[in-house]
Amino acid sequence: MRMKSLGYRLGILVILLSIACSGNVSAQSLTTDKSKGWCDKALRPELLKLKEIKTSRPWFKVYDVGNHVFAIAEPYNYEETIAYLIIGNKKALLFDTGMGMDSISLVVKELTQLPIIVLNSHTHFDHIGSNHEFSEILAMNTSYTRANAANGYTHLQVRNEVTPEAFCNTRLPQLDTAAYYTHPFKVSKFIDDNHIIDLGNRRIQVITTPGHAPDAICLFELKTGYLSTGDSFYIGPIFLFDEATDLKVYRRSINKMAVLASKASRVLPAHNIPVVDPAEVMKAQKAFSRIEARKIEGKPGDFGSIIFDFGEFSYMINAKLLRQ
Ligand SMILES: [Zn+2]
Repeated sequence: MRMKSLGYRLGILVILLSIACSGNVSAQSLTTDKSKGWCDKALRPELLKLKEIKTSRPWFKVYDVGNHVFAIAEPYNYEETIAYLIIGNKKALLFDTGMGMDSISLVVKELTQLPIIVLNSHTHFDHIGSNHEFSEILAMNTSYTRANAANGYTHLQVRNEVTPEAFCNTRLPQLDTAAYYTHPFKVSKFIDDNHIIDLGNRRIQVITTPGHAPDAICLFELKTGYLSTGDSFYIGPIFLFDEATDLKVYRRSINKMAVLASKASRVLPAHNIPVVDPAEVMKAQKAFSRIEARKIEGKPGDFGSIIFDFGEFSYMINAKLLRQ
């Protein structure tokens, strides 16, 4: 039940709660994930259908998702984070850098020798883990991004990611779990909505889509129709949990994403499954409208959340936000 259970992505919830409660909540005490054996679990069937590219780093699974775009997945940690490498003829864009448990830059070097530009879908810890391994980093011009770049995340904030229940350590060459933290990183240039990233023969548009996080963005490439949605849409429980989350802001973002999805050939989300039908994003827009209009009953979930289940995806919303 990795796809629909809440246990598999507790880390981000724990950190959101820790921030919301100013550190008074013990992250460890919130662990309810009792699943065992991330080394033994079968990969998601959707991953097995993709063309895999073998690399020297067994922590990562790399998939060719067409048009010189590679999904770099971390399926052996319960976040099941996915970064994407988009290769042009002059430069390559790395959209997210993963958990930072193994070196993503070594994998990237095996896929391309071109100069790398890093940009994050948002600056939660599960997407910025290896930013510090790169020298050219674009970032959104928000105070939230600046704070996360300057501070990273402490061991206390991310320690739930490295418990035996959370990941498969035998896939890693080495990781000091007692010291694991998310490094701060240096931003080369701050950018704004509609910024175009020029990779030579391809142009990637940055679209701000706040809601899940204040600095959340999507990428859209007109030529290929690839829409990268970060955590604003993926198959699985979509978290709108942070007390800083504004549901009205997310509403605007999912509307924007549905328009882009209507022109998209593929959706590339930042968790669980790398290639998704754009129709799912349009379904999410409709689903969110039903939640807003109170046309669907949610079920109480953990940590004061309400779960609205739509099959392939669900919304997990902080009950406090729904009362506002
Ligand atoms: Zn995430």
